Amino acid sequence: MNSENYYEIIQQKDHLIIIREKFDEIDPRYFTIYTNLYLIIGNNECLLIDTGCGLFPLKPVIDKLLNGKKLNVVNTHFHWDHIGANGEFDNIFIHKKERRLISRPLNLSFLKDAPNTILNRYSDINLILSPAKRITPLNGGEVFSLGGIDVEIIHNAGHSPGSISLYTDKGELFPGDLARYGMVLLPSKEYLAQVIDSLEILINLCNEKNVNELYPSHEEFNISKDILTDLSNHLKNIDDIWENRKPNEVNNAWTIEIDKFVLLINVGIKEREDFRKRLRLLK
Ligand SMILES: [Zn+2]
Repeated sequence: MNSENYYEIIQQKDHLIIIREKFDEIDPRYFTIYTNLYLIIGNNECLLIDTGCGLFPLKPVIDKLLNGKKLNVVNTHFHWDHIGANGEFDNIFIHKKERRLISRPLNLSFLKDAPNTILNRYSDINLILSPAKRITPLNGGEVFSLGGIDVEIIHNAGHSPGSISLYTDKGELFPGDLARYGMVLLPSKEYLAQVIDSLEILINLCNEKNVNELYPSHEEFNISKDILTDLSNHLKNIDDIWENRKPNEVNNAWTIEIDKFVLLINVGIKEREDFRKRLRLLK
């Protein structure tokens, strides 16, 4: 296995390339099969969304797709599976709330217990990923003009404090980890309102601008905007499905399976005793 055959390259459109990693080969415990990176190609510049898990060199793969154009690299948020190859690039854009979170080397020792041998590759680097050389903070509202295509940054807190979505004036929306099929990582129940607010921002944008092509950072891509309303409705009515929660020890969170989602909800302070009790019952 090397960079060439590790990353799957999909030419989705003239101006959009998907670079896919098989996340479950890295660690199958997160209910996640794929990580999707996206390269948006303008007439003058390109923009890469996320840098993946950093398991194999990414920059040589991207360089081949640029045709000599300037590259901008944006992280949708600070989680390790989106920033792994940051150290290979000269500059990384990320929301200002998460700037400090990606400025230090990243220790992946939490992956030590994962069962897969592909992780042996990380032992070459002692399970430490190097940070970006330079980090430029975003506020939300910025527009990258790539030549013939504009990409707007939208601050979308919820999945993490500085999560962002990206929207192109060609009608594609990249919601990061805010909305995806499969596992949706969520804050504890009392903070779900923030996620619902962020989903509403995207629902309104899709309606106003007639956007109906979503490209999440994991799993299926080119999906309908319905995912936003479906997810938002489940979260608004969380009390109706709260009975179905199961304790998940690896992630220290509740899981609730509904439709095509596995909601992974942090355990609130008042829920800790209940969580431990339910965990004991499973053993
Ligand atoms: Zn994430």
